[in-house]
Amino acid sequence: TGIYHSLIQLSDQQQIPTHPALDTATFVLSQFPHPDNAESKVALIDSVTNCQVTYAQLRYSIKSLAAGLHHGLGVQKGDVVFFLSPNSLLYPTICLAVLSIGAVLTTANPLNTAYEIAKQVQDSGAKLAIAAPEEVNKLAPTGVPTLTTTRSFGENTLSVEELIEGSDPSMAPQIQFLQTDTAAVLYSSGTTGVSKGVILTHANFISIMTLLMWSVDVTSAKDDVYLCFIPMFHIYGLAFFGLGLFCKGTTIVLMPKFDFQAMLDAIKTHKISNIPAVPPVILRLVKFTGKGDLSSLRRVSSGAAPLSKQVADRFREKYPWVELRPGYGLTETCGGTSFFRLDDQAKLCPSSVGQLIPSFSAKVVDVETGHPLPPYREGELWLKSPTVMKAYLGNDEATAATIDSDGWLHTGDLCYFDKDGFLYIVDRIKELIKHNGYQVAPAELEALLLSHPNIMDAAVIPVEDEEAGQIPMAYVVRATDSELTEEQIIQFIAGQVAPYKKVRKVGFINAIPRSAAGKILRKQLVTQTQQLVSRL
Ligand code: AMP
Repeated sequence: TGIYHSLIQLSDQQQIPTHPALDTATFVLSQFPHPDNAESKVALIDSVTNCQVTYAQLRYSIKSLAAGLHHGLGVQKGDVVFFLSPNSLLYPTICLAVLSIGAVLTTANPLNTAYEIAKQVQDSGAKLAIAAPEEVNKLAPTGVPTLTTTRSFGENTLSVEELIEGSDPSMAPQIQFLQTDTAAVLYSSGTTGVSKGVILTHANFISIMTLLMWSVDVTSAKDDVYLCFIPMFHIYGLAFFGLGLFCKGTTIVLMPKFDFQAMLDAIKTHKISNIPAVPPVILRLVKFTGKGDLSSLRRVSSGAAPLSKQVADRFREKYPWVELRPGYGLTETCGGTSFFRLDDQAKLCPSSVGQLIPSFSAKVVDVETGHPLPPYREGELWLKSPTVMKAYLGNDEATAATIDSDGWLHTGDLCYFDKDGFLYIVDRIKELIKHNGYQVAPAELEALLLSHPNIMDAAVIPVEDEEAGQIPMAYVVRATDSELTEEQIIQFIAGQVAPYKKVRKVGFINAIPRSAAGKILRKQLVTQTQQLVSRL
């Protein structure tokens, strides 16, 4: 039939709960360590302040904040809450409290500019914003009522901290849910165009958490200490650290932002056993020559962008006691898609991203003909699973182009399976650029470039980069007589976008190559650029 099914069967106890009225927060809270022992079990530790939150405190603050948001601020089911903060002890509380009252969570990267934030606030229809005190100014132009996360002295803004303290957890509202209700809207550019709101339902989250719980090694999970620097505004961080790992009763050490030395210190101090990471961090560990005690590490995973075989090999050679497990996923599948269950498998297939997570099906489709392909043949990866998003918010056209009438999600990734069901991601067919694992949508940068009076046409493509994975490069057609320089163009964009989206290279060209239908021929530009670089 040309369909690849997950080769991993779930036992009766491991099935995804199908109760139609179950919601994400109720599910997560029901999985917390048993209340009798919960008091002492530490859920979260802040690596900077060393402050700790136990499971009992987490439960209390979620319920209390839910009561405060609902009764105090009038947040209703379906209201969208925009959340802008780096990782913090309050992050999971805020996510779970918002979800528990049926409100819809939308998160963003705190590196984003006020302009980028205003676009998301408007697109998502946010009614309320919650922001770290240092980010509040970026929300002022939107006019949306805003709470700070922590108390900020000298400001009149109410904080989440005060709301938790001033509310009664027993007053947390009982909301009627359907699993099909929207839980969150996270932003992704998908296969083409600008960033779009990915609608994820409670069923999507409950499914990914069940599958995640199942995939975490059951015997060791209780003593595991996870290090979290993956941002929780991204699905990778949200699914793991904002929600899923609490279902395993693990302890999470939080870093507000990534810093290599701070990571080494945290590993040593807290005897970290597990680090979900991204390729640039794996590379830093490979290149690290200083002193550090990594003896507690047992497992490092890698996701969000391709990890080269060479880097993986060097990592395994240097840290033979650590299991390195690459995985693959996307926002549109609520995070996970494929993973390695066993370390031996990861060693034997070093360039694979593992096998399909249980309950996933896939097709590999010939890009030209649309025909499904057998093992070892490369084509576009299509996916079906209970974690696949409902739709792109307010964008039927993009939804129809991404989820076909048979329910297959077209990933825009070029891949193949081997005969044992191991998946290999070969290339990206879609426009998306990934810089340090963060999404950069070429269409967004092209629109900004075209707003410059001396730029007649522009195209943005990825250029490979050892450290960041990829960097955005712009090809620009200047207006006649314009002497606009590379530096001026780089500055023009840098002033308007988050640092990870900056254009870092510019090439001047007479005309942007386009298809008869007017589509930018990006592959042609990428090939041209590679040839140029190899000739240098
Ligand atoms: P995001 O929605 O930000 O998680 O981005 C998803 C995209 O990141 C995928 O469609 C891939 O293009 C890329 N990606 C994620 N994980 C991997 C991986 N392990 N190897 C290669 N590409 C990946």
